[in-house]
Amino acid sequence: MAYKTINPYTNEVEHEYSQATNDEIEKTLAAAHALYLKWRDGSELVERKQVITRLGELLRSKKHEMAEIMTRDMGKLIGESEGEVELCASFCDYYVQRADQFLAPTPIYTASGNAYVLHQATGVLMAVEPWNFPFYQIARVFIPNFLAGNPMILKDASNCPTSAQAFADLVKEAGAPEGSLTNMFIDYDQVGAIIADKRVQGVCLTGSERGGQAVATEAAKNLKKSTMELGGNDAFIVLPDADMDKLAAIIPAARLYNAGQVCTSSKRFIVPDNLYDEFLKRATEIFSNVKMGDPMDPATTLAPMNSEKAKNKLQKQVDLAVENGAKVVYGNQPVDLAGQFFMPTILTDISRDNPIFDQEMFGPVMSVYKYHDVQEAIDLANDSSYGLGNTVFGKNVSEARKVAAQIDTGMSWINSGWASLPELPFGGVKHSGYGRELAEQGFKSFVNDHLVYEPEA
Ligand code: NAP
Repeated sequence: MAYKTINPYTNEVEHEYSQATNDEIEKTLAAAHALYLKWRDGSELVERKQVITRLGELLRSKKHEMAEIMTRDMGKLIGESEGEVELCASFCDYYVQRADQFLAPTPIYTASGNAYVLHQATGVLMAVEPWNFPFYQIARVFIPNFLAGNPMILKDASNCPTSAQAFADLVKEAGAPEGSLTNMFIDYDQVGAIIADKRVQGVCLTGSERGGQAVATEAAKNLKKSTMELGGNDAFIVLPDADMDKLAAIIPAARLYNAGQVCTSSKRFIVPDNLYDEFLKRATEIFSNVKMGDPMDPATTLAPMNSEKAKNKLQKQVDLAVENGAKVVYGNQPVDLAGQFFMPTILTDISRDNPIFDQEMFGPVMSVYKYHDVQEAIDLANDSSYGLGNTVFGKNVSEARKVAAQIDTGMSWINSGWASLPELPFGGVKHSGYGRELAEQGFKSFVNDHLVYEPEA
């Protein structure tokens, strides 16, 4: 399996890595399992907190260097990469401050004696992660699990190997013992073999529905606990009283951040008929004013997509939408630049029988739907195989909250585009996956809630 950095702005191959051998996998499993045995009774938490504190310091002091690695791997704007490094450092602060609290035993009230639940490590984890947030995706599973005492083997996306290795190297530099986080360049069969190994107790994946199904199947076959953070087709419901200036200010981040390649990007804009024409006018202005170019240049506002493969896939999806009746309001033209740029595109008139209606378009494409009454908007938002996030936007916040409560997703944002912070649990329902990352829920995803009960004599 080829692990390569192909810079999507220049199309040049910058790095290539050879595949790990099965002997290397065995050594990694042995080192990781030995750590688990050392940590499972809660030992060395103080030392692990010191490592994570140091990791936060390193992330901050090497912010630009790390950001450049990510931008070269998958093309995101340098400012976005720097923001990602800072966000990872904030995960370090958050979990170091709360690890003792999250790991403290929980007393259980029972009239029959004494009972409490210990929150203990469970063992080695296999993490499979995507390219769209190369550091953030690793950080949000590694940091809490390292503190909880679960060592981790990482298989990252084959198109951002340099970022994955840089993150693992930083963890080592922060003082983590060998086996704490091992980045491995391995193929799908090797991932399956690791999942099947009896020393591995959990599997977490962030990625597509297809990748999630494959890896969740391996986990289920081997009765390993798993969490799945998968795709989304998030609705952005504009309510009839929406302030259009405020709305226009958040559209660029909601749809175009990371070249639209965010699981929680707003992908389907559901707009009332009284604001529909105005919305399309504003969205067209925003999309036509983006500046495509070198992602290292702070003046660039729309990055290339992460790879030629991703760009071709998106083009096929737009073609499919149009063949089945969608109208192109803006975009869908070739871009005269060498990198993997996709012209931001606005589609309307997507009927429910259009095959694109229930597909995630992972790039700078906005679908716009018109509604007459709010129930229609809620029904449209819920008419999706996915259930990751949504936004509800309107002046009357209590009305917006009522609407949000009726959407079948794991997350809702009111009067804001998507957001991710260490204290906010992240995850979805339906085909967007199961389990949560971040916050206390994420910390406890792979913790053994170990009951201890002493009945009265
Ligand atoms: P993907 O193809 O599923 O890849 C994700 C990871 O899974 C990569 O490391 C990939 O390795 C690996 N993988 C895929 N199939 C595998 C298999 N059969 N066995 C073992 N490993 C396998 O996903 P993607 O298309 O690159 O990523 C974008 C998707 O991720 C979007 O759908 C997006 O919405 C979703 N996402 C979800 C969240 C969330 O939190 N819910 C966050 C970010 C992204 P290779 O690279 O080697 O194929």
